[in-house]
Amino acid sequence: PAGPFLEALQHADVARLLPVPAAESDKYRRGVVGIAAGSARYPGAAVLAVSGALRGGAGAVRYVGPAADAVIARYPETLVSDQGPKKAGRVQAWVVGPGAGDDARTVAQVLALDVPVLVDADGLRLAPARDVRRRTAPTLMTPHAGEAAALLGVGRDEVEGARLDAVRELAGRYRATVLLKGSTTLVAGPDGGPVRANATGTPWLATAGSGDVLSGLAGSLLAAGLPALDAASAGAYVHGLAGRFAARHAPAGAHDIADAIPRAWRDVR
Ligand code: AMP
Ligand code: MG
Repeated sequence: PAGPFLEALQHADVARLLPVPAAESDKYRRGVVGIAAGSARYPGAAVLAVSGALRGGAGAVRYVGPAADAVIARYPETLVSDQGPKKAGRVQAWVVGPGAGDDARTVAQVLALDVPVLVDADGLRLAPARDVRRRTAPTLMTPHAGEAAALLGVGRDEVEGARLDAVRELAGRYRATVLLKGSTTLVAGPDGGPVRANATGTPWLATAGSGDVLSGLAGSLLAAGLPALDAASAGAYVHGLAGRFAARHAPAGAHDIADAIPRAWRDVR
């Protein structure tokens, strides 16, 4: 086959991808990212997804779901809406799934919208392959190995033993861009082509809520107008670096990773 089938993400490539607002920009042109996440049981997932989204380059973050009070208490700049995703107002890309529990209805509503959608965590389980394949706007799915295994109907070991095959297989089956998390994160597009590999991460990233921060961050990049493959790869790169900064001298929680995103972003630029 012509060309490489695996590309290692480099600092300079990612630097070119990160959005910089033009002098005449405004918050809508920068992009609005919608977050449909969290549940009574997992309100924190919503807070963490919003925390990543606020640092991801979109001009505004909109939240719909049952954790609005927790979100606003921590991030007062969030626009909250109790109208559901369809009537939430202007949104250029959605993130659905982190801590969503069994809210299949919200997942279906978001997938029916004609804007880029990032599906993570519980959302992956609740998104029928048929509905994802039918979409015309880009879909970005962000499973870890366990979630990928469940989607493929195989054991986790099988995914871990053939990660490159698994990420390509999922991207083909769902006609989606797929980001497979792990010590090296792989990103595959729906149309074949080289898979991108990110190794900026650190095992310190293996902490509860870490993936929720990534989903918000990458969703924000989608809303800023990056193609799904670029939003996923730049998101993984910056997230991994943020993990390194957050955990340089001590273990860190997911909220520390989110707080380190601006530092990682500056380092890449
Ligand atoms: P989640 O499992 O959804 O919370 O996501 C975990 C995040 O941590 C993902 O971004 C993974 O890529 C990252 N991660 C988990 N384990 C490791 C590891 N051993 N080395 C580097 N990154 C990791
Ligand atoms: Mg997760």
